[in-house]
Amino acid sequence: MQWRKANFYQQQGHDELLCLLCPHACVFSADKTVGFCQVRRRHGQNLETATFATAVQNLDAIERKPLYHYKPGTPVLTLAAPGCQFRCLYCQNYRLSQFGRHPEIAWQAKPVDIQSILSTALNQQAMIGFSYSEPILAAELTLALAQANQNVEIIWKTNGFLTAEAREQLIPYLSAINLDLKTVNPQRHYALTGAPVKPILENMKAFYQAGIWLEISTPIIPKINADINSVRQIAETLYAISPDMPWHLLRFTPEFKCRHLPPTSPALLNQAVQIAHQVGLKYVYVERALGPNGRNTYCPQCHQELISRHIWGIQDNRLNQGHCFECGFQIQGGW
Ligand code: SF4
Repeated sequence: MQWRKANFYQQQGHDELLCLLCPHACVFSADKTVGFCQVRRRHGQNLETATFATAVQNLDAIERKPLYHYKPGTPVLTLAAPGCQFRCLYCQNYRLSQFGRHPEIAWQAKPVDIQSILSTALNQQAMIGFSYSEPILAAELTLALAQANQNVEIIWKTNGFLTAEAREQLIPYLSAINLDLKTVNPQRHYALTGAPVKPILENMKAFYQAGIWLEISTPIIPKINADINSVRQIAETLYAISPDMPWHLLRFTPEFKCRHLPPTSPALLNQAVQIAHQVGLKYVYVERALGPNGRNTYCPQCHQELISRHIWGIQDNRLNQGHCFECGFQIQGGW
């Protein structure tokens, strides 16, 4: 691991440091030198981060984040350093995200070179994306990349669990976000992730109001959040922000500490889609399990198929400058 000086902290009291990056608000003392996320540590009178590093450097399509209404088909150079402030029981990337919490998970990232990442992205006409683990923990790397070259757009796939102070510093540098919202029920959210849901709901609204293109993802997990009331509550929360905000329903597959639960059935996903449409959300997607109909974009007004997708990207885009080619209805997004 290679440590670099972090931002987002302050001195507290006589000899403590307070991390200001996420609402866990870890306090570092002489005895406690590593944060809950395992990738921030105290070194002398400074806080340091290990996230100027990545375990992946993939080029894939923006649809894989998933972001369906932002520059369809654009390649994304995706980075991910180990670490997360959540300990989600179902995490599919736990070998990366849960570094430091399980002795069998080894550090597997290499330090990144800012200029080399930027030139790879520019050569491929790609955005830079942070995904697979938690991008908030790579806040300093995000800022360093963005400030080195503002011609490369940066996108996040995030749990949305950051402080208002960090959020306001990062907003000017983020083009689009896919935010994971597991449930709006505080007790269930805490049980599933180890973190409160309130800051995520506040950040969701703030990102939207700041004009960042925002799409939401929710894993539909049988016996956890797949019941009608839970789905309806999430849909109503999203609707209150905007009925045009796309909602991705993710199929749960048994992983990590949720291997005892069954995978989400297509019937359950279909039921969730129907509930979301009843609430009034215009764009509800299921990448897999419901076939192409689940992931295509249809005009909410005349029901023409506007964007057809395969699992890894787009097949056809019939939008006419962001409008339905048939009836002229405006489809919200960053086209
Ligand atoms: S970012 Fe890490 S060290 Fe900072 S408050 Fe959150 S969990 Fe703690």
